[in-house]
Amino acid sequence: MTVNVLNLINGTWCASRTGRTLSRENPARATEVVSLAPISDASDIDAAVKAAVAAYPAWKLVPAPRRGLMIAEAGRILSTRKEEIATLMTREMGKPIAEARGDVQEAIDTALLVAAQGRFLGGETVPCELPNKFGMSLRQPVGPCGLVTPWNFPVAIPSWKIFPALVCGNTVVLKPSELTPACAAEFVKALVEAGIPSGVVNMVCGLGEEAGAALVAHPGIRAVSFTGSTTTGSLIGETCGRLNRKVSLEMGGKNAQIVMEDADLDLAVEGALWGAFGTTGQRCTATSRLILHASIHDAFMSKFLDRVKKLVVGDGLDANVHVAPLVSAEQRDRVASYVEIAVKEGAKLALGGHVLSSGAYANGYFFEPTVFTGVTRTMRIAREEVFGPVIAAIKVSSFDEAVSVHNDTDFGLSSSIYTRDVNRAFTAIRDLEAGITYVNGPTIGAEVQLPFGGVKGTGNGHREAGMQVYEFYTEWKSVYIDHSGRLQRAQIDT
Ligand code: NAD
Repeated sequence: MTVNVLNLINGTWCASRTGRTLSRENPARATEVVSLAPISDASDIDAAVKAAVAAYPAWKLVPAPRRGLMIAEAGRILSTRKEEIATLMTREMGKPIAEARGDVQEAIDTALLVAAQGRFLGGETVPCELPNKFGMSLRQPVGPCGLVTPWNFPVAIPSWKIFPALVCGNTVVLKPSELTPACAAEFVKALVEAGIPSGVVNMVCGLGEEAGAALVAHPGIRAVSFTGSTTTGSLIGETCGRLNRKVSLEMGGKNAQIVMEDADLDLAVEGALWGAFGTTGQRCTATSRLILHASIHDAFMSKFLDRVKKLVVGDGLDANVHVAPLVSAEQRDRVASYVEIAVKEGAKLALGGHVLSSGAYANGYFFEPTVFTGVTRTMRIAREEVFGPVIAAIKVSSFDEAVSVHNDTDFGLSSSIYTRDVNRAFTAIRDLEAGITYVNGPTIGAEVQLPFGGVKGTGNGHREAGMQVYEFYTEWKSVYIDHSGRLQRAQIDT
């Protein structure tokens, strides 16, 4: 069944003014059209931003606890429709059905966490230096926000942005990925059904360089939150810098799992399997480098390769499948080209490395789970984000070397170390340059109550989730109340 996706502008589901549509195929069976969505242009974006601007004055006056109740209701609606949305997600972007359920669950978890925050959006009170004077700070919304999201977490990532933006009193325009418009529309429908007023949430589908760029640069937008590739994020950062616009950028990663000589090897193998091949390696936190201590390298690799060989590749709707297709033919070809580059640069292809295109794989974007050994830190396979089922193993001879190799990257999202040595674990927590560090766990598996984001080329200093996300969606106001009845001069009348 093909889903006909529409834009949501000022409470009305409508086609694009351009009349153009984009069809999205099932990555496991490219002959099946999953969704047809508008290819919108700057005029659609303009209408949506105007709706968000018009709805803002009334929405910001709705008490935050009441805004939180609507978000809780959206979470409840999502939980009743979890299976239906998860199935659509697997058809639209490919990830295995259990992971698609997890994606929707993450949005439900976010709704619960954010809804309660409606009663806790607090500021601070502090003593003033002059008598009979009261000082406090409070949070105020930023204004209409432009949100640009990728396809790999097509429900969870919009929820990380929209729920906190709304509870703080902002209105939003979402431009979802052109690869997952139907998932985004299902998520937005839950907000509409939960009673969010017209114009507060708007969604415009379309291409990045057309609709996305128009949203980011629109004069009615006060803040932009983006998740996606570093190339796109840098462009958006430039635009927002020029316009003095608040911008949050969550971008690429080159995450590594370190395995020390004292690690529980079976546990480390399980972690690497899940970290590298979960979501077919298409998570921003996916493990794409393995940093192995030389003394356990061969033992680890032998166990690991045994397990990788047993991974089942196939349509994510089949509950027995571990590794689903890549999201698109373009992404599959990009992965294949990185395999070629790695071989040319001298990495040893230990397993996989090929497009799967016969039999059950004939109509999909499948790629073999792929393992490289003998990788050095200067090879492109060790430095650039592949975003596919490919892992590159680098041998090291000490903890210090492991940390040095780990940090020798432009990115800094997630990191992991397997060790039984508590001293090393704490040193790693201190020294690994990343926004997230796991000890004895894989690089994937973030929970919504802790801040999410990265350092260096992965981000621009903001965080999503946790309590930190409210820093982005609010502005601080400092308030001084002088009840002395006379002029008191700070720093002078001491
Ligand atoms: P992408 O950058 O191609 O697209 C992301 C979004 O930006 C899409 O909606 C796209 O239409 C839009 N876009 C593209 N060009 C634009 C432009 N010029 N102006 C405005 N918008 C534009 O990324 P993708 O392929 O959808 O997602 C994969 C990338 O996302 C990977 O690099 C991954 O690491 C990253 N990612 C990062 C995080 C994180 O939190 N750090 C989370 C998930 C994904």
